[in-house]
Amino acid sequence: MRAHEAGALHGNDASPSWLPYPADVNALLPGLWSQTTRRGADGALEVGGVSVADIAREVGTPAMILDEADFRARARRFRDAFAEAFRPLAGADIYYAGKSFLCGAVARWVDEDGLGLDVCTGGELAVALRAGFPAERLAMHGNNKSEAEIRRALQAGVGRLVIDSLDEIEQVSAIAADLGVRARVMLRITTGVEAHTHEFIATAHEDQKFGISLSAGDALEAVRRTLAASSSLELVGLHSHIGSQIFDVGGFEVAARRVLGLVREVRDELGHEIAHLDLGGGFGVMYNTQHTPKSPEELATGISSIVEKECHELDLTVPRVAFEPGRAIAGPSTQTLYGVGTVKDVALGGPHHRLYVSVDGGMSDNIRTALYDADYSCLLAGRVSDVVPAVVRVVGKHCESGDIVVKDEYLPADVHRGDLISVPVTGAYCYSLASNYNHVPRPPVVAVRDGELRTIVRRETEDDLLALDVG
Ligand SMILES: *Cc1c(COP(=O)(O)O)cnc(C)c1O
Repeated sequence: MRAHEAGALHGNDASPSWLPYPADVNALLPGLWSQTTRRGADGALEVGGVSVADIAREVGTPAMILDEADFRARARRFRDAFAEAFRPLAGADIYYAGKSFLCGAVARWVDEDGLGLDVCTGGELAVALRAGFPAERLAMHGNNKSEAEIRRALQAGVGRLVIDSLDEIEQVSAIAADLGVRARVMLRITTGVEAHTHEFIATAHEDQKFGISLSAGDALEAVRRTLAASSSLELVGLHSHIGSQIFDVGGFEVAARRVLGLVREVRDELGHEIAHLDLGGGFGVMYNTQHTPKSPEELATGISSIVEKECHELDLTVPRVAFEPGRAIAGPSTQTLYGVGTVKDVALGGPHHRLYVSVDGGMSDNIRTALYDADYSCLLAGRVSDVVPAVVRVVGKHCESGDIVVKDEYLPADVHRGDLISVPVTGAYCYSLASNYNHVPRPPVVAVRDGELRTIVRRETEDDLLALDVG
């Protein structure tokens, strides 16, 4: 255990070295909370002008609180930053990655704000279509789309169906022919670049399920077959997605170079100009002080110079590009409000101990900590306290010792049953990955804006849970 910068007094805690001792344990860390989150006069957090104490009273806990202004401002900022940076080239489109979080209200915001929308299953497509999302601005992904999913996407007229394998070319072509439509398709190319957080690796081989391999020579063959099926397939462009929670543009640089190399081969060998290039999503967000995301403007400027330079070197006409941020739009917009139950001070041996704070949700509403070893942060949300901070571990109510929401954070040591705590940046891949483990109903998602609260996904009830049990 390292010595603490705050001195020996704090040496008996179990904090990891990256976690700074808080100057003020009640303060909101800049960059971590949605743009309208603040402390109200009574000490309770307020989001969109609504106190979390009122939210807890009205809809109960746990509850996911979505700051509508924050979500929409981020969506528009990506749209504008990339449009601006790519204007001197051939322009850029932003598709919100619906898998990060999707419901009818969100689909309508994304539509109103002029973005496209990515879906990757029949269920996500159904949400988008029911919300009235224009099909021509939908992109449909999936490494193993069913016949029914492809059929429905083509009937709806999705603007881009992203083909993920050689055999899917025949499949989509046959369904399109059967429906008498010409499917607008992109080919997802696996570049061998895989990015995670601050690092990326670029290998010759790939050992994963997505896309059509560039290194194996399948990619050029895929383009050839797609062009050969031109009566039922219209090749819109190429697609590449390199990973998630990425902080620098190095991975995009290598991926862009490789895909553009294919664009060049396609031009030279098949005489076809690729008009669109989708470079995927994956822009990182701040979950805690270890993360330093770039702004949309920095990303857009950085990637546009990469695309321009690579096209110049390959003597290519610059294609129109697209990006698919999910996490970077949805993540920071939402916080999860929990009620505190049992609090245990657990001895770790020697002078070390850890305060286990149990909340009324857990791995069923946020699996990311267990699944990805994610580090979240949290605050005492219903009040402030000047009691000295203690290192806590926020755990859920499920029957797993890995049921951890926040591995390490400081909270005032007087945190107790009945308190509210809030975990920021839970807008992406929390609700969308939520489960009913232990038959725990999923929480509601409430949108707050200008002092008003609106439930956009209601809480699951016991009746909902029992309704499927027909045996
Ligand atoms: C998951 C995914 C995204 C979104 O990733 P984020 O990390 O949420 O930005 C975009 N495109 C594709 C193809 C994906 O699979």
